[in-house]
Amino acid sequence: MTNPETVEKLSVDLGERSYDIIIGTNLLDRAADYIKEILHHQRTIIVTDENVARHQLPRLEKSLRDGGIEFETIILPAGESTKSFAQLEKLCERLLEHRLERKDMIIAFGGGVIGDLTGFAASILRRGMDFIQIPTTLLSQVDSSVGGKTGINTGQGKNLVGSFHQPRLVLADVTTLDTLPARQVLAGYAEVVKYGLIGDRDFFLWLERNGRDLINGDRQKQIHAIKTSCTAKARIVAEDEKETGRRALLNLGHTFGHAIEAECGYNDTIFHGEAVAIGMVMAFDLSVKMGLCPEQDAARVSAHLVSINLPVRLTGTDHPVCNVKMTADRLMEHMAQDKKVADGTLTFVLASEIGKGFLTQDVDPDRVREILELSLY
Ligand code: NAD
Repeated sequence: MTNPETVEKLSVDLGERSYDIIIGTNLLDRAADYIKEILHHQRTIIVTDENVARHQLPRLEKSLRDGGIEFETIILPAGESTKSFAQLEKLCERLLEHRLERKDMIIAFGGGVIGDLTGFAASILRRGMDFIQIPTTLLSQVDSSVGGKTGINTGQGKNLVGSFHQPRLVLADVTTLDTLPARQVLAGYAEVVKYGLIGDRDFFLWLERNGRDLINGDRQKQIHAIKTSCTAKARIVAEDEKETGRRALLNLGHTFGHAIEAECGYNDTIFHGEAVAIGMVMAFDLSVKMGLCPEQDAARVSAHLVSINLPVRLTGTDHPVCNVKMTADRLMEHMAQDKKVADGTLTFVLASEIGKGFLTQDVDPDRVREILELSLY
């Protein structure tokens, strides 16, 4: 007898734009059953990247074929550089070549790069088309596939061109994580930790005990962590869809992290989640330096990330980021380009303890520089 599959269902409450997040095992093989329920007519276009296509695409295609859903597939290059104007243009052209109609469904099948780019294309094609997220990385399952932020990077910084466009459904199948490279699993784990740090101390304590198992492929623990993360994200998105307030808490570590990514040039030197791990440690260190957070909490955050093998500093380890020559000035310049700048002032996500994140604009740039220098030298 085969094991029964585990399936958890949540919803993002946004009135008529509400949608379900389904989390479980082997959902890919039953994807057609879920997708059929929201199709206007039986035609879809899958957008994926070459790695996901190699490892996971046959499962999705078989499910759609068996379910009688017509589909085309577009395979893009893998990697952060695909989130560009050039690839957006190519994707839009290719989608239109497939004679895409407004009522067709686009399926973003991949990690955050495919989800962000495809979601953005869906938001502008034919003045807005429906799309489904089938996230295949831990990062995209706990974060990027939920909440409707879509976009691309430009020479000026990350995600500076984009839109809010909610998916119609999110299907997170943990069995897709089996083929994800270990370093990518770790990078996604940083975003899981983030939910504990901004609002759920108990979840952080659970991660201290169970994080290693989750990373090593324990399905039930993966499902628990994804469900807890998505529940937190869905609640915040329902309260503040367009990020006029509370949603910005989800950016813990991201202002620092984006600056590090920009300085590295959006390549494999550092993955988004790794940059966020370093950024979260910087945010806690800054909170301590400003007298707002106990030192032992910052030390505990850093110790957990180190125990999991995530980078927490810009120097002193054999992580590739430590070979990049950076200065605090350059990083400060990148931070000034951040989307969270308003009237020339950056909003920071700081913490008063593990599980209590808050937003503030009241941060002395000299303290920020000290934190960057602490990490760099
Ligand atoms: P990614 O999409 O680049 O995927 C990482 C790598 O794993 C790629 O090489 C991909 O081809 C490969 N891959 C994906 N799934 C696989 C699988 N199951 N098996 C084997 N290989 C697989 O990166 P990511 O970490 O998923 O996403 C990062 C992006 O997400 C960044 O651009 C970031 O800005 C964005 N993001 C967006 C939001 C949002 O709210 N929209 C939130 C967080 C991050």
